[in-house]
Amino acid sequence: MSDFDTVLHPDWVVPIAPKREVFTDFSVALKDGQIAAIAPRDQAQEFDADEHVALPSTALMPGFVNLHCHAAMALLRGYADDLPLMTWLQQFIWPTESHFVSQEFVRDGSELAIADLLLGGTTTMVDQYFFPEITAEVADRVGLRALLTFPVIDVETAWARDAESCINRGLELRDRYRDHDRIEVGFGPHSTYMVSEHTLSRVAMLAEELDAPIQIHLHETREEVLNSVERLGMRPIDFLEQVGLLGPRTQCVHMTALGDQDIATVAKHGAQVVHCPRSNLKLGSGICPVQKLMDHDINVALGTDGAASNNRLSMLGELQIASLIGKTQHGNPKAVDAWTALEMATVNGAIALGQLEKIGTIEVGKTADLIAVDLSGVHHWPRHDIPSSLVYATQGNEVAWSWIAGKPVVANGQLQTLDYLDLQNRAMRWSEQLSAFRATLEH
Ligand SMILES: [Zn+2]
Repeated sequence: MSDFDTVLHPDWVVPIAPKREVFTDFSVALKDGQIAAIAPRDQAQEFDADEHVALPSTALMPGFVNLHCHAAMALLRGYADDLPLMTWLQQFIWPTESHFVSQEFVRDGSELAIADLLLGGTTTMVDQYFFPEITAEVADRVGLRALLTFPVIDVETAWARDAESCINRGLELRDRYRDHDRIEVGFGPHSTYMVSEHTLSRVAMLAEELDAPIQIHLHETREEVLNSVERLGMRPIDFLEQVGLLGPRTQCVHMTALGDQDIATVAKHGAQVVHCPRSNLKLGSGICPVQKLMDHDINVALGTDGAASNNRLSMLGELQIASLIGKTQHGNPKAVDAWTALEMATVNGAIALGQLEKIGTIEVGKTADLIAVDLSGVHHWPRHDIPSSLVYATQGNEVAWSWIAGKPVVANGQLQTLDYLDLQNRAMRWSEQLSAFRATLEH
């Protein structure tokens, strides 16, 4: 038997740990789905392995950890654009979902999204959508690492009758994947405006008992904050604190419209912040003050949000824009620098999930969730600085290879576990049905 399964020979390794270092002419060896050795290329070429993979002009880095998605909503990409959040939700998204959402919708939408995510270098996805058992099945089958945060809302949906039945179905699913290596299940209470105080308290209690992750949309817009003050007499984050839902296992998604007091509250509880810059920009929601949060030692990770509000699912696109708007927002080109953007998309995501011992960096003993980013294009020349290339010069389509737990899911730019033509056919079928329905929504 060989010492290693696979040895990867990129031109550069961007391990993320040690911090802010690039190894030139180094190779990474994999064994049993784990990173087994990192060595200079001339030594590694001699390694006894089942296969050696040459990856010229690529930078090998940890796979992206995409902290917020609604995968199945890929079927609603471009369905209703250029609208403010509440109009978009109430007049278009929610009526369409209540008409169409089914196991089949979620299966086809999840596959489409996951194909897109894999080609964009996402190796871990956090998802929040109806029928999470279907998305879990798809993720499991195609080899993606995923945290499914099952929806908890008080209104009836195709998936569950009420909040209690959401929780029951979700916990059943959590139980089913208890010992799974790649799939985890947590709580996804939608927001403080869609879930009652009673339900939020119950989620807080159960999550604490089970030590389970929680993901919630929070401070997505200024209006959400103002409405909360009017309705509950307090800001959403204070309400979350009051119901006991704010802690290190809570992932607060969006977090625009934050005052100094709000930032102090997040810091006090060690809660996780998830920045979704493109979705926020596109819905005109606001901008999360990333650098300011980080200066208060708050961990900020990155998410694409769903394709209905982004409309891409590209983590390279997301980290680029996070860096650019971070600078403009703070009036400081040093804010959210290139390394910070790369860390947000990798190691900070691992920290937010409590999975730092397993993913987020290239270190011996960690799971082999890796991507090779192709920097051969003329738009990367002359490659003075690799992190700069990765953040500022990428066009989003440079992820040429991706491995999850050592298994290739993208090779030479091609999907290995999903059928491109089949995906295309199903997307086109949905397009016809959805367009016909959308025409009935226009006034
Ligand atoms: Zn969302």
